[in-house]
Amino acid sequence: MEKDHSFVPSAGHQDWGIIDLHLHSSCSDGTEAPGAVVESVAAAGVKTFALSDHDTTEGWAEAAEAAVATGMNFIPAMELSTSLEWSSIHLLAYLFDPDDSQLLHTTNKIRSARADRIMKMTELISADYPITVEEVMDAAGPDGSVGRPHIADALIRAGVVRDRNEAFETILHPRGGYYLKLYAPTPLEGVQQIVAAGGVAILAHPAARAVSLPEKEIRQLVAAGLSGFELDHRENEKEKLHVFQNLAKEFDLIVTGSSDYHGAGKPNRIAENQTSPHMLERILKQASGSAPVLN
Ligand code: AMP
Ligand code: ZN
Ligand code: FE
Ligand code: FE
Repeated sequence: MEKDHSFVPSAGHQDWGIIDLHLHSSCSDGTEAPGAVVESVAAAGVKTFALSDHDTTEGWAEAAEAAVATGMNFIPAMELSTSLEWSSIHLLAYLFDPDDSQLLHTTNKIRSARADRIMKMTELISADYPITVEEVMDAAGPDGSVGRPHIADALIRAGVVRDRNEAFETILHPRGGYYLKLYAPTPLEGVQQIVAAGGVAILAHPAARAVSLPEKEIRQLVAAGLSGFELDHRENEKEKLHVFQNLAKEFDLIVTGSSDYHGAGKPNRIAENQTSPHMLERILKQASGSAPVLN
């Protein structure tokens, strides 16, 4: 049963326009500040967007303000890092309480693990390539999330690689000789904590190459309150999608589509995949942790 909640305007009353629910700013590994992301979103003709930086809500206030100024609808979100053995699993969390103490404890722990890991990886890499720990660690701001993309940017500035993708295929690759694993909670802990914080949990790009989740685990996540899957995403591999499509049917889950925009950091273009108004309204109906900014 979906909880009914006042965040959802009565059916047909809100103009959602084009909806893109997965974008990153420079509070994590996007290349544009939150306000600039909102400008790009507006220029792309999108009316409803979510800012979903990795493991931080730092960009929410600036994005909300820019949304009000430009007459757009803003859905507060985050992409929570979790891991299962060697697979890195991303959970999109919508409309949770940003002050929830358990989730705050988790995201603080992940960001500090990110900082340790990226500092150590950068130290190792700097023995062989002309990059510095300082330039990498300063990249995401004090409450932001540093990640491998910031090492990639330093390698680009040093002229070692052409773009982030080349860095990920070589020096930053798990078998590139410098890779360290990132601490993160399990997907089950992630789902439980998002739900406990009044949020809605959607499995991000579940059929991407790097994601490996046995069906048994996926069913366990659904039983724990996972609300749906991001089925339309450029990294999803067609042949890996059917299990998610079938489960979505079996449990009447929410399915979304989005761009995963990172500014100049990735080729993904705003609104290249979209979410339907009906699915967004289902997300709003299930959420109780924080309110969207509606215009
Ligand atoms: P990290 O969380 O530090 O391990 O870095 C993973 C992040 O890097 C993800 O959020 C991706 O968006 C980004 N990323 C992964 N592969 C690539 C790529 N080939 N090009 C650009 N960004 C990437
Ligand atoms: Zn990212
Ligand atoms: Fe992701
Ligand atoms: Fe993402």
